[in-house]
Order: sequence, then C-alpha cells, then structure tokens
Amino acid sequence: MRGKPPILLVHGGAGAWRAHRDRIEEVCKVLKDALITGYELFKSASAIEAAVEAVRVLEDSGLLNAGVGSVVDVRGEVTMDAGVMEGCSGRAGAVAATSYPKNPVVLAKLIMEKTNHILIAGRYADELARLWGLQKHPGPTQYVIKRYSELISKLRRGEIPNERFRKNYAVARQLLGLGHDTVGAVALDESGCLAAAVSTGGIMMKLPGRVGDSAIPGAGFYADRHASATATGVGETIIMTFLTLRAVTYVRQGLRADEAGRRAINEHTKLFGKGTAGLIIVDRNGFFDGVYNTEGMPWGYLAGDSKEAVVLGLPNPP
Ligand code: ASP
Repeated sequence: MRGKPPILLVHGGAGAWRAHRDRIEEVCKVLKDALITGYELFKSASAIEAAVEAVRVLEDSGLLNAGVGSVVDVRGEVTMDAGVMEGCSGRAGAVAATSYPKNPVVLAKLIMEKTNHILIAGRYADELARLWGLQKHPGPTQYVIKRYSELISKLRRGEIPNERFRKNYAVARQLLGLGHDTVGAVALDESGCLAAAVSTGGIMMKLPGRVGDSAIPGAGFYADRHASATATGVGETIIMTFLTLRAVTYVRQGLRADEAGRRAINEHTKLFGKGTAGLIIVDRNGFFDGVYNTEGMPWGYLAGDSKEAVVLGLPNPP
C-alpha cells in the first residue's frame, strides 16, 4: 500500500486471534481511536509524538497487552517493556521489566530525551518514572487476574505440561492462546522523519525478569532515515532475527516497505515457523504494510489521502 504523508500505522499484536473473535469489534474501535488521536499530533508535532501518543491510547485502553491491560508473570505481577526510536535523529529510548508506570512508552521517550542512555531496566526505571511524575500503573485488570487464576489452577492440576510451557513460548502460545496483543505504532511526518514506538506486558506467565523484543532496538522496533518498523510475536524469536532492523535494512538496500516486511517475515518463518511474528512498516516514500505469520494481527493506518482510519488483519467476527 502507499499513502500520502503524514502516515500513521498501529497494531494490536500478532497471535491466535481466532479464539478472540468476540473482542474484535472493541479492538477495531480502540485501534481507530489510537490512529485518530495520534494523527491529530501531526498538526503541531513530529512523527515520534504521533507514534507515542497512538501507543499511549492503546496502553490506556486496558484491552490489549500493554500499559493498563498488561499480562502478568508467573508470580501474578505486571512487568512491562517499551521502546521508541526516531529515524531523523537516530535517537532511541527503552525500558525493560518496569512495573511502576501506567504508560511505559512515555517513560521510554523520556529516557531518550533526558538521559545519555538507551535502555533502563527494572526498579531503576521505576524510580525514574516516579521522579518524572508519571502516573502509576493500577495493577492487573480483572480480565488478566481471571486468566491468571485459571492458568495457575491448570498448572497445579498438571493439565499444562510445565517443562514444555517454560521452554517453548511458541508452543505455549498455541497451547494456551497466550501472549498476543502487544501494541505498536510507526509514523512518517510531512518533513520525512520516521518514528517507531512499541509497548508490551510481555508473555503471560513469563519467568520474572524476562525481557522481550519490545525493549531492544533492532528487535522490537527500529527507525532510520529510510523506514520504520515495530514487531510483535514471540519475543525470544524476534530478538534472534533482529526482525525490525532486518526489515528496515532491506528498505535501505532498495526494497519498498511492503516487500521488505514480507521478506523479513518469510525469513523469520523459515527459522522459527508459523505463529511467531508480525510487523508493521512504513518507508520514506509512503509505502507501508502489516505482515504476519500468525492467525491474525489487527493493524490499521491513517494517511494524508485516506478518508478514514482503516483496520485490517483480523479474522471475521462470529
Ligand atoms: N513481542 C512481545 C514479547 O515477546 C509479545 C507480543 O508481541 O505479544 O514480549
């Protein structure tokens, strides 16, 4: 696809969406809200502001696995990863395993702007969130608590093969329908600057301290002067292929964003199989796409020449 800048894309996570058909209407609505709210910012601000604002709306929705809606680890605690990157300045910021902020994407942006570092983890990231007056996370949603209790009971009853569960997240996701719904955005503003933002609660029932791709530039997010991409899926596999850097590199070498995204996902699938990853990507010439090897990946776009926000990538509602 191709659009006229400014262009904003969002996604709501690659995964086993067929089992979640009942949530499709709500998910479409929240993706459209995020696109419309983020797009407003192009009037007065640059690509990074639009991308971060769109992700902030998705974090606040409580509906997806990021910010308020984040899943929990095996102890039942929320720990989140997020990252941002601006192509024109080459700056990036990220947080890993943070539990304090309601909006980890905002913390990632502040780390980019206010520090000399790229990635801050754990309680030190929490301290910065407090210092900079960010809102506190309200704790897991009722929906997440209910799913956690069900899973713990199943584990106790031996209904989930424990070893397999811990060692192979891809299998666990298929087995339990876990871990999709990470959120991300990519943006191209009228000055030609590209940006990426991503946020996640990670993988449900992850081991404490686990950090996924969303905190790692080049894995879960990447932007340079040519293209910008954010990824979703099994973080352990996305880190191994450096999926977003790979896709953006193909654009730098001459492919269009849609071709580059497809090539990167095809290579990822060859290495790790289906059901493992998806990405959204936009290039400086206005080409963009959402590509995935999972059952679905709700993603949407709004461009200078679109009549309205468009959402694609979901199985049909029941
Ligand atoms: N990529 C995320 C992670 O592994 C999960 C997701 O995309 O749903 O932390």
